[in-house]
Amino acid sequence: MSGAAPDVVVIGGGIVGTSAALFLAEAGASVVLLESQVVAAAASGRNAGSIQHPLDRVRAPLYEESLSIHQRFGILGDRPAGLLAVGAEASGPVAAIEAAAPFRDLHTQLVDGAALRELEPELAEGLTGCLISGTGFPAHPAAATRRFAEAAREAGARIEEGVGAEPEVVGGNCVGARGDDGALWPAGAVLVAAGPWSSALLDPSGAWQPVSALWGVTVQIALPVGHAVRHRIEEWDDAGTDGELAAGVQFEATPLDDVTVLGATRAATAPDEPRVAEAVRARAAQFLPIVASASVAAVRACARPVAADGWPLLGPVPGIEGLHVVAGHGPYGISLGPASGRIAADAILGRAAVPAAFRADRAAVRPPQA
Ligand SMILES: Cc1cc2nc3c(=O)[nH]c(=O)nc-3n(C[C@H](O)[C@H](O)[C@H](O)COP(=O)(O)OP(=O)(O)OC[C@H]3O[C@@H](n4cnc5c(N)ncnc54)[C@H](O)[C@@H]3O)c2cc1C
Repeated sequence: MSGAAPDVVVIGGGIVGTSAALFLAEAGASVVLLESQVVAAAASGRNAGSIQHPLDRVRAPLYEESLSIHQRFGILGDRPAGLLAVGAEASGPVAAIEAAAPFRDLHTQLVDGAALRELEPELAEGLTGCLISGTGFPAHPAAATRRFAEAAREAGARIEEGVGAEPEVVGGNCVGARGDDGALWPAGAVLVAAGPWSSALLDPSGAWQPVSALWGVTVQIALPVGHAVRHRIEEWDDAGTDGELAAGVQFEATPLDDVTVLGATRAATAPDEPRVAEAVRARAAQFLPIVASASVAAVRACARPVAADGWPLLGPVPGIEGLHVVAGHGPYGISLGPASGRIAADAILGRAAVPAAFRADRAAVRPPQA
């Protein structure tokens, strides 16, 4: 769309929906965001709380832009905690060095023995680590999404919570969104930002499922007084970490202000929370023995939205005029989502095209008829 400011309905109040609403409203568009529960109800409020580099060249620009957006809205603290990749074998941390090498803002250092324990005193003996400095900003899981929602409202967006909706498509044109109470919200464009629920809204027939759910469980623990985790810590093997989305219970820890977050796991189906939480704790205790003495503050399960190739899905939906999407950020939605919200907003406003790697009609996610 171009010319006069469009009316846009955004479906979904996670990090990408709220940031898109913010950028649309700042550009002068008239925006309504419909959220079936409350803002940040899903992954955008239940994540592990680490804003960090995806360590691939394609998504790096989304991360860099998102950092400056987070900074603008006061989400980032002064300094990143750093990402510490650890393994029983040195090959994992060495793989981390290679993964970080292309990025000038990141610095790596291989550490083991006493040097590693000095860096991270609670770690078990016998591990090797790679410290990647310059990334791993801790942030309360819901902080960014709530802040973007607030800023969107200040910029004039209307946010309706407790309203589920789906795109209303007539003759190949999206004419607005139909609320679950039957009311039509007419709009010049509809942006689907419904996380793992997006596929069902984009193609109710189920033939095209560009975004699927990858479930994760986190365990929030309070460490005994005098003990702390200093870095975002991840267990790495030769293959890295989250490139391999099928991996099961892997050790990850994120230090937030009041708790340390263990996890998250990765599974295609909804987890048995108590069983998985116990496995997360047991795995973590192998790397951080103090975990065995920590009290559990909360266990959370939630689904990440992932596309087949692991990269977000952005911009116009093929075959339906006026329908747009922003979804599929997998384990990096808090780290990359704000920039995607900006790109999705610009695509609706006709300001800029979506980068080819993220287009909703790319080969990896193309609908069957295309
Ligand atoms: C356990 C876990 C840990 C994670 N840790 C990190 C991390 O440390 N760092 C990081 O960068 N990322 C992390 N992520 C990933 C990140 O949380 C997600 O990629 C991101 O939150 C997805 O945001 P979203 O806005 O696309 O979707 P969501 O947060 O899922 O939001 C979608 C919203 O749409 C609403 N909705 C759905 N259907 C409808 C409908 N029909 N009508 C209206 N509203 C609807 C939902 O209620 C929901 O609020 C983690 C994810 C999980 C699950």
